[in-house]
Amino acid sequence: MNQFPENFLWGAASAAAQIEGGWDKGGRTPSIWDMAPEKKIKRKDSCRIGCNHYEHMKEDVALMKEMGLKSYRFSLSWSRIISEEGKINQKGIDFYNNLIDELIKNDIEPLVTIYHWDMPMWVYKKGGWLSGKIVELFAEYTKVAVDAFSDRVKYWIPMNEPQCFIMNGYMQGVHAPFKRRYLALAKMSKICMQTFSESVKVIRANAKTKPLVGIAMAAGAFVPESETKEDTENARHMSFDEGSGLMSNRWWCDPMLLGKGVSAYGVYRISDSFAKGICQKLDFLGLNLYAPYNDADWGGDGKKKPSGRPRNHIGWAVDERVMYYAPKFMYERYGLPIMITENGLAGNEWVCLDGKVHDTLRIDFLHRYLGELKKAVNDGVPVIGYQHWSVMDNFEWAEGYDQRFGLIHVDYQTGKRTLKDSAYEYKKIIECNGENV
Ligand code: BGC
Repeated sequence: MNQFPENFLWGAASAAAQIEGGWDKGGRTPSIWDMAPEKKIKRKDSCRIGCNHYEHMKEDVALMKEMGLKSYRFSLSWSRIISEEGKINQKGIDFYNNLIDELIKNDIEPLVTIYHWDMPMWVYKKGGWLSGKIVELFAEYTKVAVDAFSDRVKYWIPMNEPQCFIMNGYMQGVHAPFKRRYLALAKMSKICMQTFSESVKVIRANAKTKPLVGIAMAAGAFVPESETKEDTENARHMSFDEGSGLMSNRWWCDPMLLGKGVSAYGVYRISDSFAKGICQKLDFLGLNLYAPYNDADWGGDGKKKPSGRPRNHIGWAVDERVMYYAPKFMYERYGLPIMITENGLAGNEWVCLDGKVHDTLRIDFLHRYLGELKKAVNDGVPVIGYQHWSVMDNFEWAEGYDQRFGLIHVDYQTGKRTLKDSAYEYKKIIECNGENV
């Protein structure tokens, strides 16, 4: 076969807090990220203005069209849609209605993430992920979104990376709301799983067009040292039973996707009966893939890595084999069609004297990673789409604005957008449905 499937969703992704700005416009109230203390973000930056996509929306969609995108994954800002408990903000709904209409007008399929980390302050004040109250608040929020958008939106992703917003935000304290509640992992995970489960039910019960529901997991895999049977078996085992494999893949996916309990390090436990209660049959499994787990600072294989090997500007290893092994291992275990919901390269490129952005490394990255994805497809893994992270340079959470992941360069001072060389290369890849990778 040696090709990507027909109707493959070639796209790019973003998240509200990272690009929208307009933090106090149109009746929106602040999120935990708007209120992050400045000392917690590199260069004392903030996401309040971001890329000002709020005011550049039409221009941004036109650039997506120019790149030839078939899909666009974006997230809704909860506090733009529900500004206080029980208070629906019509102006916020209008913003997303206009975005969705603009996408459809340009033949771009909208893929909607309901929650990508920007919890409203009003929800945080009611306990956030530490209180079961969020289950009901999130269900109400989902209902409002589904009522408003599901006549045009088919693809729904209730949550992005529970691993990260719980572990970074509530355990390691490096992301908003900067809490360190190590012992509450099982409690918060269960609240989060219930929240997801109820949200899926609300989508299925209320959607006006048949919904396709998934989740975007901070998933990954250990890659084998060689392709021998023994090394591959070891990598497969580690990908679910050790370090990051256990805490990022299995801890979340076994209960949520298989209805199976899990225990870790004798401290954390989710029972089979709880898992059965929250498990939902999904239509696809979204994987956000960057570096193999072998390299993780915490939960990696602990082996010394060669000096000077390829790394992105955050320091994550560039190793495309993860794009073959993660879809393969995850499909074998969970049996769901796979969508790559994120994958990309943090760089630090600028507009050159000729007015263009020559991000040669991102072009190479695209071919490397997509080549491995194609290999997975040819080995029988059903992959329905690839959303490059990110559609445009943006606010990289606690890292601020130095790390540029975009296909579109953004000048944060002037708001000027420039398509990078990689955007034109991606366009060519899309046009031939990946035959050239
Ligand atoms: C997140 C994105 C983030 C990207 C790069 C993912 O974990 O979903 O919001 O920008 O990784 O760090």
